[in-house]
Amino acid sequence: MIKHHLNDRLLMAYSAGTLPEAFNLVVATHISMCDECRARLASFDAVGGALIEETAEQAQMETGALAATLARIKSTQPSTRPDAPRPMRDVVLPEPLRAYAGGGVEQIDWRNVGGGVKQAILPTSRHASARLLYIPGGAAVPDHGHRGMELTLVLQGAFADEQDRFGPGDIEIADEDLHHQPVAEPGMACICLAATDAPLKFRALLPRLAQPFLQI
Ligand code: ZN
Ligand code: ZN
Repeated sequence: MIKHHLNDRLLMAYSAGTLPEAFNLVVATHISMCDECRARLASFDAVGGALIEETAEQAQMETGALAATLARIKSTQPSTRPDAPRPMRDVVLPEPLRAYAGGGVEQIDWRNVGGGVKQAILPTSRHASARLLYIPGGAAVPDHGHRGMELTLVLQGAFADEQDRFGPGDIEIADEDLHHQPVAEPGMACICLAATDAPLKFRALLPRLAQPFLQI
């Protein structure tokens, strides 16, 4: 039962193809797990399509404007938007993610980042970064703030922070206003997909020193 969903701003930007690849990946993965957001995306896609058609028609009436409009449409087309196929609930990594992770959860090339927490950075464009996080049951990610936007999607297990509890399929949208410390629930390890468009702000010295090496 998914409780935390994508907001309209993200769905609209995804539909328009203006998100960086790392955020596209998180949005596509959530949509592959969530019927509600898939339906909302379909209506944004329909509105966007109608707007583009209307713009093109108007431009045809103006001499020379058509070429410019077509060029504009072409330049706003999503180039790095992964498709969100139907849900596959029996696997930890849904399809759009498997291509980036090089296969299933067994194939992930985990690197230790301390405290039992592991990460695997995924290959996306440099405008934002995407990583898989493995947080053992009961373990915590160092508390931090954000310089930009951070999207965290739970794939397995659950974590809780100052905001709420996040279970499988839930997405947390964090920005400059949120300072938090995600802690995995006791028991099963929590596996998340996280994307950020700016470095995090760590309060403690150790994570701050490790930051350049972890690219976080
Ligand atoms: Zn949703
Ligand atoms: Zn955060």
